[in-house]
Amino acid sequence: MRLKDFPAEIRDLIIPKVKGEIVYQCLGCNKEFPIRQLLYTCPDCQDLLMIIDKDSHRFKEIPGETWQKIFDYRKMLNIPALKGVFLYYEFIAPLIPLDQIIYLGEGHTSLVPVNDFMRDFVGMEFYFKNDGQNPSASFKDRGMACALSYINYLVKTFGVKDILAICASTGDTSASAALYGSYLHETVKSAVLVPQGKITKVQLSQPLGSGAYVFEIPGVFDDCMKVVENLADNYHVALLNSKNAWRIRGQESYAFEISQDLDYDTDKKVIVVPIGNAGNITAIISGFLRFYDAGIINALPKVIGVQSTHANPVYRYYLERELNKRIFSPVVVKPSVAQAAMIGNPVSMPRVIKLVQEYEKKAGNERFFMVQVTEQEIMDCQLTANRNGHFICTQGGESLAGLVRAFKNKIVHADEIAILDSTAHALKFYTFQEMYFNDSFSPDFEILPKRELQNSPRLIRPKGLDTFPEPGKSLPPKDVKRFIELTSGEIAAILNLQKREVH
Ligand SMILES: *Cc1c(COP(=O)(O)O)cnc(C)c1O
Ligand SMILES: [Zn+2]
Repeated sequence: MRLKDFPAEIRDLIIPKVKGEIVYQCLGCNKEFPIRQLLYTCPDCQDLLMIIDKDSHRFKEIPGETWQKIFDYRKMLNIPALKGVFLYYEFIAPLIPLDQIIYLGEGHTSLVPVNDFMRDFVGMEFYFKNDGQNPSASFKDRGMACALSYINYLVKTFGVKDILAICASTGDTSASAALYGSYLHETVKSAVLVPQGKITKVQLSQPLGSGAYVFEIPGVFDDCMKVVENLADNYHVALLNSKNAWRIRGQESYAFEISQDLDYDTDKKVIVVPIGNAGNITAIISGFLRFYDAGIINALPKVIGVQSTHANPVYRYYLERELNKRIFSPVVVKPSVAQAAMIGNPVSMPRVIKLVQEYEKKAGNERFFMVQVTEQEIMDCQLTANRNGHFICTQGGESLAGLVRAFKNKIVHADEIAILDSTAHALKFYTFQEMYFNDSFSPDFEILPKRELQNSPRLIRPKGLDTFPEPGKSLPPKDVKRFIELTSGEIAAILNLQKREVH
């Protein structure tokens, strides 16, 4: 829709303006640092940073209902920079001029209601929000769009040069970083570090295709992360892991979109998210808090974090009910089909701890819950969802297994509605489905395939035929006819088809 066609009272607010006072703030010592430099940890105490807007009072100067209208109308505006996560410009990074925003089609992934079968499977209504529909096929693009727009802003506005963007990855971060980096390849070089043999072939193909330097490192993700941190501490590089607070900002859009898609009615809603490095859960909690503070949503939804028993440090931390007795200890991970969440020492844990306290304080009651699920439950749930009209990844299966568990444990109830994060595209993780279908999981996964969820192609090669079609070779017409008839007959027999009656 053209600007002149919007209602007069909203027209001035539709195109956002650069505003606010954005700084990095240390989680540990609260010290603030200007955002003109690439910073990841506090130069004073080495704690993690968050990005804050010191002029956040201005959000309250606009009534919540007006904000709702701004976002709803803005959806009709055909300006690419405002089509993705920057639809919520004022809440993402309101310092980047519109012409420096990188938009590759991320965000606004669909919220899909499940069928009656799935509702009864769990016992309540729920939706999948399919973040596999992002350009590099995972939710990581939300954060990367913001982080790379910020880098582009440093380049274009301040003339920063020769940027090497680097990250460690369980697969999807590197795919996303390399994709967004490639858009800026004239000013930004990309390097990604992945654990050798611990990411799928599809995921490896992505940064390779984007032209990034791809380094395979022995060990697991946590080992790659240590190398990347060493590089970031000692060399001039731009770190694109979720330590990077700009990524958290972009990922908050997940919470904003859910709010908007529910017409801002977040009462009696439940958000279910798989947790790996804990950047996504950080962003989601922070996003709902900020919309709530600005009066845009009417309630803080319940948030349920899910981890596999094979990688469960966050679950273990919250097992202790008493706040002061909680101690975080990393775990050594075991193989997990929710491979993108197979992390023993989540970088954003300090952020989660702080935000959960704030969240529950504002909500006035317990609002954040952790559940753990088995590898078996993850696979069974993924395959069940996908037999009911979805195409979720193994981490999406983890979300569903988490909801099933939360419902059984009475953390959620039939009068609530849940939104489950399927964090990536199912095709990235098809190898796990393959292992399930041909029963080839190594024993350490502890997965026994269920017959009723398995599937395999059936070769039809009728007996009594000597010649079969082959590429580049044509059969005599009578052989073709016989081949078609016998093949059809075999398929009809397997499917128990009734012969058509000829009148
Ligand atoms: C990164 C990732 C996760 C884990 O998210 P965190 O922010 O690290 O907790 C889950 N699923 C997929 C598909 C991912 O790529
Ligand atoms: Zn500090």
